[in-house]
Amino acid sequence: MTSGPDHQPDALADWLGIRARISWPSWSSTRPDSGAPAYDGFRDFFTTTRGSRDPEGTRRVLTALGTALADADQGERLDFALLTNWQRTVLHRASAPFRTAPAFAKAGRERYGLTPRTEALFEHCLSESAQPDLPLPSRAARTYLDVLFFHPFEDGNARAAMLALAFVLAREGAPPRPGTPPTNHPLGRRRSRRDRPRGTPRNPDPHGGAPPVGRKAAMTERDVILNELAQGLRPVSEGIEWFDGLGPDEQSDVLRFLRHHCVQARAVAEDAPESIRRSGLRPTHTPAVLISRGRIDMQLGKIAGLRPLDERRKAFRLLIAVLSIADGRRRERFCSGGCGHWWHDLPAAD
Ligand SMILES: [Zn+2]
Repeated sequence: MTSGPDHQPDALADWLGIRARISWPSWSSTRPDSGAPAYDGFRDFFTTTRGSRDPEGTRRVLTALGTALADADQGERLDFALLTNWQRTVLHRASAPFRTAPAFAKAGRERYGLTPRTEALFEHCLSESAQPDLPLPSRAARTYLDVLFFHPFEDGNARAAMLALAFVLAREGAPPRPGTPPTNHPLGRRRSRRDRPRGTPRNPDPHGGAPPVGRKAAMTERDVILNELAQGLRPVSEGIEWFDGLGPDEQSDVLRFLRHHCVQARAVAEDAPESIRRSGLRPTHTPAVLISRGRIDMQLGKIAGLRPLDERRKAFRLLIAVLSIADGRRRERFCSGGCGHWWHDLPAAD
């Protein structure tokens, strides 16, 4: 963002004026199923445009891209909180609030105004990224332009717009990427009583009218077990037994996976005491000491990286407790009107 004169036309107001009248191309053909991974393009874009002049920033935006694509896998909804979570990584800052002043871009030639309604309008526009009024490419492009014209952040809005574009495309029916765990992941034990194909959403119409969000068969038995544990649908003792049956590398994988989900569920430092209590750890146990040190994203990473077997088991119990608290809060606050989180529709484990 650069400074500029305040009397310029408001490019955001202009965009909102024409946004509803754009004659987007419409077509009825189905998406070509190329099977080719589509997201190397986003990685290439960031690497090519920033790589040489800003290696550290490139690393951060690629990390944020990974989070955005994982969020898309999970069927998350696009909202400002989700964008903020990526932008904290992009900018390497603890917070990335909505701007509090008019913004300028293109060396001050373009001005984006701010009114008391701007942030709410932005939320509304983001929510339209999932509305079936336009074909996916048009919606993705519209979301990209929304982020650019609202210019929500103090810095890094072009990167934020590109991440939002990748998310919207990935959330619906985009081809699977390398690295998506196969559905028969070796970590998972298949449950015998399963009455629907793997990857089929339990509720085929979670948004009440909107077409079902494309949910790749990304959930593994491991995802299911961990979420059952976090939600109290499966006894912790069974979880520990399952965890003990894994090899050291698999255990580390599980801890990293749990840590990722805790961050996605927006765990906060204040969750530490209750997490320790629920996990049954003593405050002097290493994972409990770590989580009490603040900067929870960082501490969760350290906890997930603990190596001795005994520490890993404690880390497992603690991270399950953190997930239970953070995800429980997310569910209460954001999911009461229905949501696209498959794990919020799990029956008790059999
Ligand atoms: Zn939910």
